[in-house]
Amino acid sequence: MFGGFHGDEPKSVDIAQRLISLLEESPAVGSAARWVIVPLVNPDGYERRKRRNVHGIDLNRNFPTDNWVLTSARSRMFSGDAPGSEPETHAVMNVIKRFKPQQIVTIHSIGDRRFCNNYDGPARRLATKMSRHNGYPVTGSIGYPTPGSFGTWAGIERRIPTITLELPTHHSAKRCWEDNRPAILAMA
Ligand SMILES: [Zn+2]
Repeated sequence: MFGGFHGDEPKSVDIAQRLISLLEESPAVGSAARWVIVPLVNPDGYERRKRRNVHGIDLNRNFPTDNWVLTSARSRMFSGDAPGSEPETHAVMNVIKRFKPQQIVTIHSIGDRRFCNNYDGPARRLATKMSRHNGYPVTGSIGYPTPGSFGTWAGIERRIPTITLELPTHHSAKRCWEDNRPAILAMA
């Protein structure tokens, strides 16, 4: 599980931290799986409540994928000058290489009621299973291209089932946790 790719989506960090607390308090709850949890990928952005990292780069566009493209430095989705240029990107890649997860959930939040269980790679079934618990729509695309995204790197190119869990920004962190706790635990 990854939270806080985007520093202005603090609910994603909150959910990851709540899962850590739950597993600490009730180890039996998570005993069906080994969890590796990175609650905050982008600490500098989070500190300033900014989407991008301290270099002004959208980490979710910085992965060295086949479809990586250079975008405008003025864009809020700036890719960085080169794929994989950021230390946070490498930290995430190293976690994947070290722990070789069988499934990934990366948490974000989104407005306009576009919350969803978005999937990359062979994860449609997993997204559907989670949907039975959180009621979110299952989507194979977020509605716009995301070159250099983590989902593309891990899910599409490495074939690791990857869910991008898009929480509704209009719900509280507490509500998001209550709605998603069963969906997350159902991954195991
Ligand atoms: Zn995001």
